[in-house]
Amino acid sequence: MRAGQRGRKIKAAGIWNFILIMVLLFASMGVTFLLFQRTSGQYQARLEESGDELAESVRSIMYTQVEYLEGLAECFSIYEDIHSREALDTLVRIDKKNRFTRMWLIKMDGRAISSERSVSDAGERGYPEQAARGESGIWEVQTDRVTGRHSVVLFAPTSYEGRVTGIVAGILKMDALLDVINVRSLGGKSCRAVFTDDREVLVSSTGCADVSVPDSRYSYSAAVGILDWNIMVSLPENVIMEEIRADLFLAVGMGLVYVLLCGGIMVNVFRDRSRLLSLKASQDSLTQLANRGAIEQIVGDMGEGGEYHAVLAIFDIDKFKQVNDTMGHSVGDILLKAVAELMRREFGDADCLCRMGGDEFGIFIRQVKDREILLQRMDGLRNKVGRLSLAGSLKCTVSIGLVFVAGSGELNTFDTIYQRADKAMYSSKKAGGNRVTVYGAEKESLREE
Ligand code: GH3
Ligand code: MG
Repeated sequence: MRAGQRGRKIKAAGIWNFILIMVLLFASMGVTFLLFQRTSGQYQARLEESGDELAESVRSIMYTQVEYLEGLAECFSIYEDIHSREALDTLVRIDKKNRFTRMWLIKMDGRAISSERSVSDAGERGYPEQAARGESGIWEVQTDRVTGRHSVVLFAPTSYEGRVTGIVAGILKMDALLDVINVRSLGGKSCRAVFTDDREVLVSSTGCADVSVPDSRYSYSAAVGILDWNIMVSLPENVIMEEIRADLFLAVGMGLVYVLLCGGIMVNVFRDRSRLLSLKASQDSLTQLANRGAIEQIVGDMGEGGEYHAVLAIFDIDKFKQVNDTMGHSVGDILLKAVAELMRREFGDADCLCRMGGDEFGIFIRQVKDREILLQRMDGLRNKVGRLSLAGSLKCTVSIGLVFVAGSGELNTFDTIYQRADKAMYSSKKAGGNRVTVYGAEKESLREE
């Protein structure tokens, strides 16, 4: 593989790894966002739950008071005239023992007498139609002109011998709801209020600013089911942020660790891949031996002086073309692989085993301890190639040429060393092939006759 091609492949692998890390980064950001959403969702659900409970409590308090008035109305139903002295005495006695700030006995013509004996005409305000029908309920909200506080008027009809004789009305301060409004919900940090459709706040939890327009997106409103009342529960944004900050830090921290971890893995994968690519670049794909470029580098690495008793042997299959021509190219390939396998078996300890190209191979060994033994091993290789069992009666032989590197002092570039080995190999070929020739001793080539 050429250097440019390898560079492009490594670059492509780098881009893919970068994309993968980015995908992971966005995935962990997504998970963080989902966690955030989930936490917000949980708060919203708790707000709704708390709001619905509040609406229920407001209804319950109000209708308990209405039921109380119905009970009183029963007491006043023994009087034919609800403005009689006895009836008014009873009203005064009862007034001191309940939650109403003031009570009234109102006749059907509008004349009203309060528990403080003040007389007024309620007629102009009209009567709740339900009262005339004998039904009780919640009449209206009144606002104190001085304090601005709100009260609500509840009523229940009195009857005498089956006919409605008047109304018992009670005025209840909206503050009576403070007990349920001030309940410490959501960690005691929520704002709770009852307000009208016109966004007039009737009562709100103490310490809350203008709750009629909650500035937080964490709020919940719902109709109470009394007049045009609504309840509202809200949590200030900063409270939510404080509460979920810890979760957020945890999620972001986990995301970062995740990205770092994956990044580390990716870097390793990338490194392995580039190692593999550079390995492939120096490898012959058919035999998995090193290629010519690799042996050039390894021999060149010896430096100028070279190493004493290093050896480069190259050999070429004799009449290999015939194998291709008679048996086919694929059999030729099998033979090349078989030779490579034999090289691995016989010279697995060499510094480099390579296929130079075509049917030519090379063996490079740095420090040869014993020249004679090395020559015997080379001759052994030649011999074993000759005994490779191939299809039919085809015999395979190799011509080997080798050169010993003399050590310091000489100019030992790959080219000069190779040329000598090649010259020796050529001598083997010229002498009929199937032999080992050492450069400089061409006349003494080894051959098994
Ligand atoms: P010589 O005895 O002089 O070495 O002659 P030879 O027939 O072996 O011819 P030479 O070494 O010059 O040519 C080697 C041939 O190897 C040429 C080419 O067709 C063939 N060859 C090159 N690469 C491959 C390969 O990968 N597979 C196969 N099957 N054949 C190849
Ligand atoms: Mg050949």
